[in-house]
Amino acid sequence: MKAVVVGGGLGGVTAAVALRRVGWEVAVLERAAEFGEVGAGVGVMPNAMRALAALGLADDVRRIGTPRVPGGIRDRRGRTLTRVDASHQDHVVAVHRADLHRVLRSALPARCLVTDTEVRSLDDLDADLVVAADGIRSRAREALFPTLPQPVYAGTTAWRSVTTARFPLDLGLSQTLGPGTEFGVLPLGDGRVCWYAAAIAPAGGRSADELGEVRRLFADWHDPIPALLDATPPAAVLRHDIHELAAPLPTYVRGRVALLGDAAHAMTPYLGQGACMAIEDAVVLAAACARADDVPTALAAYDRQRRPRTQSMAKASRALGRVGHKVRNPVAVAARNAAMRAVPASVGLRGMSKFLGWTPPSLSPDR
Ligand SMILES: Cc1cc2nc3c(=O)[nH]c(=O)nc-3n(C[C@H](O)[C@H](O)[C@H](O)COP(=O)(O)OP(=O)(O)OC[C@H]3O[C@@H](n4cnc5c(N)ncnc54)[C@H](O)[C@@H]3O)c2cc1C
Repeated sequence: MKAVVVGGGLGGVTAAVALRRVGWEVAVLERAAEFGEVGAGVGVMPNAMRALAALGLADDVRRIGTPRVPGGIRDRRGRTLTRVDASHQDHVVAVHRADLHRVLRSALPARCLVTDTEVRSLDDLDADLVVAADGIRSRAREALFPTLPQPVYAGTTAWRSVTTARFPLDLGLSQTLGPGTEFGVLPLGDGRVCWYAAAIAPAGGRSADELGEVRRLFADWHDPIPALLDATPPAAVLRHDIHELAAPLPTYVRGRVALLGDAAHAMTPYLGQGACMAIEDAVVLAAACARADDVPTALAAYDRQRRPRTQSMAKASRALGRVGHKVRNPVAVAARNAAMRAVPASVGLRGMSKFLGWTPPSLSPDR
């Protein structure tokens, strides 16, 4: 059986690895001249780490990602709102996106990876299965659901980068909430640190000095935030407005086509689960293909398993934004912070367990 994957982002490449693991022949068609990812980090949550473990890649990802360090949520002065200790069994592994992409690509023979190929029509593809992993602006989604509204601006702009300098390996993995703002610290395995900053802002704002913009908002926040900004080259700061697919799709499959990743369910990144969902999608799709007698049955199972989970994740992420960095009023910020201090981390983690506790289906064909 042969699959063509449209789009070689994290979702598309993971789908290719997973489908090959269940015996499919796969080609990934990517419009860019090279495979790769932007210079920023991604937090791989425990649920996605289990999906990567099913592909035999979890140890490779752990090697390049965050060591087991304590983490938590703080206010801008550095006072702890929620602490997650290092003994917590599953931890978030932050990795440089380019490194994660490289680990995934290393599990594929070079002949599977085709660059400089922009897919304009799915009908022309010679395949039993087409995986449309062409991102938030998916042309495949538009072709299959022409009346669906375009992704909408979520009201937040985000800056991301990775330091060039190395920091002590016990630096915590943290998120800091301010009024209408947020800063995240994601240490990598080699001492470099990925960071992100988010702020409520009108859409489309750009500056010739994005690092200066971040400094203007965050330079007086707690350590190590100012030091991380000092260790970041100005040219290495990326800025993206956050968009999401506000209208959930009625199905992720049509004929021999399966939508996967942001093409199916582009969500806000406030729960750090967009790429993680794409990685889960990939493993579930491959498991469904391994078990079903034909492609329509496999795709029906994929849709059944993925749509409720990813759409409720998108909803939860949007809701978290509303009680997280989107709170601006000082009284509301103080009340939110007091509530967070009062609730033990274990209670918050229990609330997240339906998202973080997910385990992948087996890739074996046995039903
Ligand atoms: C600021 C920010 C922070 C984030 N942080 C996190 C996080 O911490 N954790 C997390 O899990 N997620 C995070 N996300 C979400 C995550 O980045 C996305 O969900 C994920 O990258 C989606 O992967 P994808 O493969 O579906 O799509 P993409 O990464 O967009 O890949 C799509 C690929 O398809 C190619 N393509 C498009 N059209 C065509 C075509 N017609 N023909 C051929 N190729 C085509 C593109 O060139 C691209 O390579 C964040 C997102 C943002 C914006």
